[in-house]
Amino acid sequence: MRESLMNDPVLIVGGGPAGLAAAHALSSVGRPNILVEKMDRLGGAPILSGYAKLVPSGEWAKDAIGGMVSRVINNKLTDVRLNTIVKSFDGEPGHFQAVLNDGSTLKASAAILTTGFTHFDSINKPEWGFGTYPDVVTTTQVEQMISSGKGVLCPSDGRKPKRVAILLCVGSRDRQIGREWCSKICCTVSANIAMEIREELPDCHVYIYYMDIRTFGLLEQKYYWRSQEEFKVKYIKARIAEVTSNGGQLIVKGEDTLVKRPITIPFDMVVHAIGMDPNVDNMTLAAVFGVKLEPNGFIDRQNTYGVIGATNRAGVFVAGSATGPETIDDSIAQGNAAAMSALGALQVNVAAE
Ligand SMILES: Cc1cc2nc3c(=O)[nH]c(=O)nc-3n(C[C@H](O)[C@H](O)[C@H](O)COP(=O)(O)OP(=O)(O)OC[C@H]3O[C@@H](n4cnc5c(N)ncnc54)[C@H](O)[C@@H]3O)c2cc1C
Ligand code: SF4
Repeated sequence: MRESLMNDPVLIVGGGPAGLAAAHALSSVGRPNILVEKMDRLGGAPILSGYAKLVPSGEWAKDAIGGMVSRVINNKLTDVRLNTIVKSFDGEPGHFQAVLNDGSTLKASAAILTTGFTHFDSINKPEWGFGTYPDVVTTTQVEQMISSGKGVLCPSDGRKPKRVAILLCVGSRDRQIGREWCSKICCTVSANIAMEIREELPDCHVYIYYMDIRTFGLLEQKYYWRSQEEFKVKYIKARIAEVTSNGGQLIVKGEDTLVKRPITIPFDMVVHAIGMDPNVDNMTLAAVFGVKLEPNGFIDRQNTYGVIGATNRAGVFVAGSATGPETIDDSIAQGNAAAMSALGALQVNVAAE
């Protein structure tokens, strides 16, 4: 029995930063693992959504996360299955059996869910112009413009914008649309994008509309202050009412909440700093893996200080933004920690048998 436990791989579901970290951690201690990814590529949101330079490292996503992907693909202990989802998952810790979408089955000693998040769809905030005006875009679209090498251009006619507004907290901290959480990373990502626009288009004025600025920890100096002092990005504390158009330019209307006056300012481009929603697959994942979701719809962690990444189901762990908004660094750390927890649980099982 001990022999088969040692040989059964750990199943990792989701090939983003958290899943890649878990796979690498398990391989590095000699534990075979199977990495199941529903898309046709590994890398998660930073690769699938074409992020540009990451915060806080400043490295291009395709290099930083691409390096993690190569490390996993080149390791014989990881069996990568692309275009794959798990249809059922039965059994006990040490002896699980999964059925995949192609009908094949596999044995697993434990599972780690690293299925990440879904980007907020700005269509759900119609009064802020996305889907109505082509020059209202999202932070992911701007990341793609930068990473593609084409540069930041207005989608309507390809002109270089002279005035850009970045609206923070789109799809986060918004009770009206049932999203009370802070997405953690979008203030910093927006300050970074603002600096990149100013660097590429020095004549372009960039304004950031905010409720609060949450460039947490050491990021305050590197992003919040630097964007203002070195890159002359302007911050407006405001409550935004709507984004409209005068035919030529976009008009951002709202209230400056510091001076308590209405403000109406024209822009060429408006950028929604979109937040992190629970993965749209979470209801299915919860049913298949028998794990609970927390009230917002992310996968629930059983405890914070005990077995890191434990879910309510023994032998099934969770890591990264599947648990709630997380940065890449924290997702990687949690992927490593969940791998350690899975190994620890298997050792307990071995000892018991
Ligand atoms: C616009 C924007 C910019 C950002 N920029 C940064 C940044 O610069 N720095 C930073 O630290 N963070 C940044 N983030 C946050 C970053 O995207 C997350 O921290 C990171 O992607 C989380 O990694 P993850 O592996 O947990 O999840 P994900 O990256 O979401 O990866 C999950 C993987 O699981 C797969 N998957 C999902 N469901 C299933 C399923 N049912 N079966 C199989 N596979 C499945 C997905 O296809 C995906 O490959 C940004 C976020 C946004 C919205
Ligand atoms: S990180 Fe900033 S932009 Fe993102 S939800 Fe939190 S406060 Fe809003």
